[in-house]
Amino acid sequence: MDFREFDELAAHRTAARAWIDANVRREWAEEQHRSGTHQTPELHACLARDGILGAGWPTELGGSDVDPGFARAIFEELVRAEVLCEGWITTVMVINTINHLGTEEQKRAYIPPALRGEILIALGYSEPDSGSDAAAAKTAATRDGDGWLINGQKMFTSTAQLCSHVFVLARTNPEVPKHKGLTMFLVPTSADGYELQPIHTLGGQRTNATFYSDVRVPDSAQLGGVDEGWSVMHVALVYERAAPGTGAIEQTPTDAIAAWARETRRPDGRTVLDDPLVAERIGRMAVDAEVARVLSLRIRWLAEKGEMPGVEGSMWKMFATEAAQRHYSDILDILGAEGVLTPDAEGAPVAGRFEHGLRTSVVGTIYGGTSEIIREIIAERRLGLPKSRSSK
Ligand SMILES: Cc1cc2nc3c(=O)[nH]c(=O)nc-3n(C[C@H](O)[C@H](O)[C@H](O)COP(=O)(O)OP(=O)(O)OC[C@H]3O[C@@H](n4cnc5c(N)ncnc54)[C@H](O)[C@@H]3O)c2cc1C
Repeated sequence: MDFREFDELAAHRTAARAWIDANVRREWAEEQHRSGTHQTPELHACLARDGILGAGWPTELGGSDVDPGFARAIFEELVRAEVLCEGWITTVMVINTINHLGTEEQKRAYIPPALRGEILIALGYSEPDSGSDAAAAKTAATRDGDGWLINGQKMFTSTAQLCSHVFVLARTNPEVPKHKGLTMFLVPTSADGYELQPIHTLGGQRTNATFYSDVRVPDSAQLGGVDEGWSVMHVALVYERAAPGTGAIEQTPTDAIAAWARETRRPDGRTVLDDPLVAERIGRMAVDAEVARVLSLRIRWLAEKGEMPGVEGSMWKMFATEAAQRHYSDILDILGAEGVLTPDAEGAPVAGRFEHGLRTSVVGTIYGGTSEIIREIIAERRLGLPKSRSSK
């Protein structure tokens, strides 16, 4: 682990905050919070205009000369400002996968427009009957002349309401073991036969069910070989852990609860923080936040060395999301009855942020791989323990 990374990000942080002050409007965070759509088109246009989306990409694919460290600092500061770019996170995963596995034609067709902010790509892996076991996908792609017909349903296709494409995992061969009969397709959301319905989750995030009825796509929409979709999806998953904003440590609002506890007085005149049990809980949160930060720095360090972070990303994700659940639960204990006041309720401490945070933290250990599945991955890939899931 190279701790010079700390200095590199610190060097960009001031400039990143200045960019955010100049470009990001406070109401975008409020609108994301209200609507549950964690992607703001106006912000995306600013990121594209200033070359931030193109940072680190080769110029022949539309890359910019913006320092990738500056771009990373911007995405971290956006998380801190509570303006998220979830549609861009999934798009980056897919365009990295295209860059890794796609044809020259596919690279030219998808990467430059994505870096110009013109296309966004959602992930269509999960289905009503297959989430953790994504390889059990039933959505079918069947040969139709020189293209494919796609039929089926995907669940939790997040940000699809703003996306131009869905990266669909489809079954192309039902006769072979489940992992061996899947293929990946880039399905335009403008295609005939494609539909979407909103799903509102406990954490306030809006996601979607997406439906595919005889959706026709050409061969050029197929990424990777026929029946090789499982390995294509794995490349995308590795990039998920190194996505922009991943590892931003503001998963838990340690600073906010510490400030509230320092300023708020009990009836006996002492501050909440004077209670040693409160101080101990907040101290533990600060330690967890630091552990999460170091785990996330390791992901970036590996990515920068040109290695693909795999199990390291899983370790960060599991630790950070589980810590967030513990922290919000502790915070609600500290706040007492007022802690469950919702953001729109009068007198809600810190504008109801903690009540909302608790609900959001519940969902965090589900999407992007549940904690149970991630523990299995760590047990297998880091500790060398035997595989516990069937691959049939
Ligand atoms: C807000 C949100 C956004 C999402 N966004 C997307 C998206 O953009 N694209 C997408 O494709 N999907 C998305 N998902 C889906 C997400 O990836 C799945 O919800 C997740 O993989 C779990 O699948 P499931 O919901 O079907 O639960 P199941 O797989 O049915 O799991 C139910 C429970 O059983 C446990 N379990 C399952 N299998 C095992 C096992 N082998 N060993 C031990 N325990 C096990 C799980 O850990 C879980 O606790 C999103 C989900 C949410 C909540």
